[in-house]
Amino acid sequence: MHASPVMAPAIQPVSLPIRQLLPWAVFGGILMLLAIYFVGVEEGAAAIFNSMYVHEFVHDGRHLLGFPCH
Ligand SMILES: [Zn+2]
Repeated sequence: MHASPVMAPAIQPVSLPIRQLLPWAVFGGILMLLAIYFVGVEEGAAAIFNSMYVHEFVHDGRHLLGFPCH
């Protein structure tokens, strides 16, 4: 009597539905670019909002990510 080897289940590759994922990837990329803009660039003469609310709201993140500030 010999010990039978444990049969591992066959590993099947998972197909990624690129056509379904691409719009979400683009959407996420746009959100990331917007976040980077508001954290990093929204300040001074090129600012969309003239007040300092956005700058103060993201100020700690700005320092955390190493954007020049003050
Ligand atoms: Zn600062």
